Amino acid sequence: MIIGGFQKLSLVDFPGKVASIVFTKGCVFRCAYCHNPELVLIKDHTGIDEEEVWGYLKRRKSFLDGVCVTGGEPTLHKDLPHFLERIKGLGLSVKLDTNGVTPAMLRALVEKKLVDYFAMDLKHRWSRYGEVAAVSPGKEYLLDRCRESFEVIRDSGIPYEWRTTVFPGVHAEDDFFEMAGYMKPGEKYYLQEISYKKNLAPLDRSKSLDVPRLAKLLSAYYPKVDIAVR
Ligand code: SF4
Repeated sequence: MIIGGFQKLSLVDFPGKVASIVFTKGCVFRCAYCHNPELVLIKDHTGIDEEEVWGYLKRRKSFLDGVCVTGGEPTLHKDLPHFLERIKGLGLSVKLDTNGVTPAMLRALVEKKLVDYFAMDLKHRWSRYGEVAAVSPGKEYLLDRCRESFEVIRDSGIPYEWRTTVFPGVHAEDDFFEMAGYMKPGEKYYLQEISYKKNLAPLDRSKSLDVPRLAKLLSAYYPKVDIAVR
């Protein structure tokens, strides 16, 4: 694993659990709003020493409930199953955040029972997914893989949530009605406010979408819509 960041404690990232967060490096998408741009490109293999992470987790395993593995995109790392096995070996639960680009990896993790909770991005309506994910020309097939992952997670029997970062100027209100329409009864769908502190590409701040209003509008039709607190 190439680890770009480690947060020792979070009370909000893994629902109902006290967790540490491991941030992996590397992503094939180029979402302009990405607020972890330093995790997107793997310019070199420098990062956090994995052994430091293991040292902390071993020392604090009785205090923690789980570990959230996020990115970048964790499923791009071939040794992710081994990494999650080690977490489970400490008696900790695993939450995996994914953009869904690697359905084969997700299937393998489900089969090996290495994940206790999934959170997957839903970046846009399927027909316009590339407007947010911004893959390089010739790699549009990656977007179909996200759609496949949506079903892999849905069929996994493991708790999950979907979440969309609201991207003013790219998303319009009707896009959220379309995306909420993908939800099955009981599925959790979170809207996340964009963060302008640090982004992968310059953003047009003159555009806006009122996220609380949007969530309220949607919740009249889809009761499990909420605003992400993280
Ligand atoms: S926000 Fe987009 S670019 Fe950033 S890590 Fe997630 S999928 Fe990759």
